[in-house]
Amino acid sequence: MNSKPLLSLKNLDLIYTIRSSVFKPPLKIGAALNVNLDIHPGEVVAIVGESGCGKTTIGQAIIGMMKPTAGQVIYNGKDVTAMNRTEYQEYRSGVQLVQQNSYAALNPMRTIFKSLCGPLLHKKLAKNRAEALEKAREAMQLVELNPDDIDKYPHELSGGQRQRLLMARAILMKPKLIVADEPVSMIDVSLRIAILNLMARLNEQLGIAFVYITHDFGTARYIARNGKILIMYLARMAEFGDVQTVLENPSHPYLQALLTAVPIPDPEIARQKRELPLKSIDMPSAAFPPSGCRFHPRCPYANEVCEQDEPQLLPHRDVLCACHRVDEIPKWSLRGESDE
Ligand code: SF4
Repeated sequence: MNSKPLLSLKNLDLIYTIRSSVFKPPLKIGAALNVNLDIHPGEVVAIVGESGCGKTTIGQAIIGMMKPTAGQVIYNGKDVTAMNRTEYQEYRSGVQLVQQNSYAALNPMRTIFKSLCGPLLHKKLAKNRAEALEKAREAMQLVELNPDDIDKYPHELSGGQRQRLLMARAILMKPKLIVADEPVSMIDVSLRIAILNLMARLNEQLGIAFVYITHDFGTARYIARNGKILIMYLARMAEFGDVQTVLENPSHPYLQALLTAVPIPDPEIARQKRELPLKSIDMPSAAFPPSGCRFHPRCPYANEVCEQDEPQLLPHRDVLCACHRVDEIPKWSLRGESDE
């Protein structure tokens, strides 16, 4: 990608401080540490990992909901903390969020009309009620909602329709980037593909970049098929690169183990799939992370160096990977082929 990044995360740390008792020192929990990520105009980046890996926290930092403990969020070349009022408003409109739980994201007392037109009038993106109504109806058509339903309440819509409504609300702000946090995990499987296709269409037609946050490789691969994928493990970046390269030839043992666990519908390929037995299935606590490589208590390739030294995210073939032994461990593919 030759264009300048639309949004960059530079050495970003996001640390929660929890005080359980006045008699105990506060506990610091690193939700995301030393995250570096560029998102270019129109690009799709999937962030994938298990619960507690930090993916949602990164999304919150991108949209300005969470202030970094250290590092920078840079939008259009400017640190968001150094922006003037106009620049900050542009950033907040330009980066929108579509949440997982559409019930929680929508006010149950507000009709679609109010949910869509309220922000338009508040941010002066429409001169009057009539113009706001026209824009809201256009947005509904764009996300394939029936504009005649504009007076309905959220409870009168299906899960898929509510997710489309969130998408319509986001695009009315004319965003350059949408952070979609598990947008299809709470809707019926049969409707998921329609929402993913809607996102792909908004990406292609309107040039909106997407950060797609998920634990599901299937949907990540589908939506970010021409984009990038970031694998997170316990607040750290484990692997980053083009989605096809990363998923076809995973380098990091954690990613290899995750892909081993993904069911394959083709029984022939499933039979050939090489297992990667982990030493433990339990994810360590983010409050008390293991020393060295955070994956070492579970990693079948861990050695003494892994127990002591934190691996850096470094170039490896065409990706970035944080593993001391990435050049030594057997190459891995779903079919179990190895050139070792
Ligand atoms: Fe496994 Fe060591 Fe690589 Fe961590 S650094 S993933 S423990 S081999």
